[in-house]
This record gives sequence, structure tokens and C-alpha cells, in this order.
Amino acid sequence: MPTLVMKFGGTSVANLDRIKRAAKRVGVEVAKGYDVIVIVSAMSGKTNELVGWVNETSPLYDAREYDAVVASGELVTAGLMALTLQEMDVPARSWQGWQVPVLTTSAHSSARIEDIPTENINAKFGEGMKVAVVAGFQGVSPEGRVTTLGRGGSDTTAVAFAAAFDAERCDIYTDVDGVYTTDPRVSDKARKLDKIAFEEMLELASLGAKVLQTRSVELAMRYKVKLRVLSSFEEQSDDAGTLVCDEEELMESNAVSGVAFSRDEAKMTLISVADRPGIAAAIFGPLADAGVNVDMIVQNISEEGRTDMTFSCPVDQVARAEKAMEEAKTSGEINYHDLVADTDVAKVSVVGIGMRSHAGVAAKMFASLREEGINIKVITTSEIKISVLIDRKYMELAVQALHDAFELDKAA
Ligand code: ASP
Ligand code: MG
Repeated sequence: MPTLVMKFGGTSVANLDRIKRAAKRVGVEVAKGYDVIVIVSAMSGKTNELVGWVNETSPLYDAREYDAVVASGELVTAGLMALTLQEMDVPARSWQGWQVPVLTTSAHSSARIEDIPTENINAKFGEGMKVAVVAGFQGVSPEGRVTTLGRGGSDTTAVAFAAAFDAERCDIYTDVDGVYTTDPRVSDKARKLDKIAFEEMLELASLGAKVLQTRSVELAMRYKVKLRVLSSFEEQSDDAGTLVCDEEELMESNAVSGVAFSRDEAKMTLISVADRPGIAAAIFGPLADAGVNVDMIVQNISEEGRTDMTFSCPVDQVARAEKAMEEAKTSGEINYHDLVADTDVAKVSVVGIGMRSHAGVAAKMFASLREEGINIKVITTSEIKISVLIDRKYMELAVQALHDAFELDKAA
């Protein structure tokens, strides 16, 4: 039997009615002849509540117990989904992560999946089970403790199962009907894309288009898992949603496929640091040790052996970054005149694999921002992405202008 993986996010299993609705979708696929592996999230809001309880009980919690508590939300929905399917006369049973087993590293709260042996579930399919309902977001460490995969991790569970079971497709049911050219809340001209390449999705996911956990896209790209994002709230046809697929499956690509943004950024500049070998390592080493996620980096022109170093990071990490830099200064690792933090910036990016073959994308982007009178503070580029840092108050305007400039309202 061909295997299909269907993942239902928190809003799709938010209550018993929604679970019933999701189970009906599963029933449709079973009727087509698939063996189905259903991956469920916790009911929406549940994981936040569990995390809150842990923090309230023990601010400096034991990460193993955090995982024990936080993984429980998915156990409830897995059992309820299996029961609902049984009520529909579909042979189904639930699996907790450790029962499969989903083998992970011991990095509690952010574990990685190492292996998913398929024997146990396949044996049950062999006995006539039609649906394996698996609790997402969790696994078991070599020490035999329950682990979780990081917030949003059930997407990664789903893709990992699709790879392990060589599934025909991995359908991610969520509360939006696909991947859009930009966030429809920011531009009412946003269009749903029928297809998008893994690499583009990776950039969009990591830039804050929170449809899929970034790691799930990385995994899908590595194992060439056909990934489909679609809504569990609408009747679905076979080509609904957005297919995230290999570049080769896209007929022709526009220069730009989407405009992404990240609202809460900060720009930090170390004024006048010594321009000598090892200075970047001396700055970014301590920042990494302090857990600061540095994104863009610009080293300015050097004068008389001194230079300015600018970087961006999430705005809620500014205090941590400042502390790390002050400590590095005190210990004599680096020396600087001043550390200036601009905490009112946002990042806006255009993404598209078509950039590799289309010239002039950057020029068009900058011209469009100029027309709106938006000042660019930092620019970075990669093969398929151009990002700018701008004042946060212009973020929406910039996204709309770029969406127009690249004619994304005509995208399909
Ligand atoms: N329930 C977990 C979370 O809220 C995992 C998931 O839904 O993907 O992060
Ligand atoms: Mg999610």
C-alpha cells in the first residue's frame, strides 16, 4: 500500500468537532487505498499553557521534566484522534513518540530526530491497521527520557515520518490554505502560490513566514519529501494548497516568489574597534556564546586602523548582546568607543530562485524603496535573497511596494 503522511496543526485539532473534521479527511485518504500516518499537534494554546505551568513551578527548570510536561499535549490529541477514527470504523491506534520509537538526541527542548525505525508501525499495517496516529513534537533520548523537538516541531515529525516510510506525500493541514507571496495581513494583494521550491520555502520560513518549522523544510529538501501545505477548514481537492517541491518540478520561476519580513529586529554598531586579524572572531565568538542570533553583519571602511562593525539580531536579545560586548571589553578581548543600538528596525527581504538567472533584482528593489522615501540601513544578499534593514514604521509600506514592484499580485 502507498503511504501518506497527514499532519494536523493545533487549530485543526483545537476541539472535538475539529478532530472529527480532521478524521473525516483521513477517512477520505484511507478510502483511496492509502496506509495513513497521522501526526498531530497539541490542541491550540495547550503547549503554551504547559510551558507556562513549568515556568511557574520552577523558573530554572530541569529540561527533562520540561519535556515530560510539554510533550503531553500531543498525547491527548493522538488518543482522541485514534478514538474518533475507530468510531468511524477506521482501524486506527495511537503511538506516543517513545513507542514508535522516534529516536532523538538528548538535547532536551530542542532535540533532533536521529532515526525512526519503521518495524513496529509496519507490523501493525500488516495486521490490517489503516491509520497510525502519532503524537508529534516528541521522541526518546538514548537515556530513555522523553524529548521534544522545539516549538513547531510536529512539522518536523511529519516530514521525518514521510522520509522514513517513503511516503508518497506529506500533507500539512493548517489554518491557512497555503503559502502566500507575502503575509495577507500586510498586503491584501498577496496571492497563494501553487508551488514553491524547497530553497525558497526555507528562506521564507526562516524569515518569519511561520507556516512551517524551518527544520521541517530542511529535512524535506534533504530527503526530497513532497510537502503540501493546505487548510483543514475547507473542502479540499487533490491539487489544493501549496506544493513545496524540488526546483526541477517548477516549470519556470519568476525572479521573485515572495516578500518576507521580520518585524522585531535590532541593529547594533560597535564604533571604532581595532581593525586587526581576529577582531571578528573576538566579537562574534562571545555573542554566539551568549546565545545571540546574529543575522546580518557589515564591517565598515577602516581608517587609521579602526573600523565600525554593524550587526543585526532579534530585538529581545539586545540586552544579552550588550552584556556580552561589555564583558569582552572588560576582559580586554576587544576595545571599542561605543555600542549603539537601534531597536526600531525591521528586515524586509525578497526571495526567489529566479534571481539566479534574472539580472537587476537588487536595482529594482532599491528603486522601489526610494520611490517610497524609505531609507535603507543595511543590505545583505545571498544567491536567492536580498534583505534590507529599514525603520520599523515603514515595514508594511515596504512590503506592499515590493509586492507591487515585482508584480506578485499576478503570481500563481
Ligand atoms: N505543540 C507544539 C508547539 O506548539 C508543537 C507543534 O504544534 O508543532 O510548539
Ligand atoms: Mg506549527
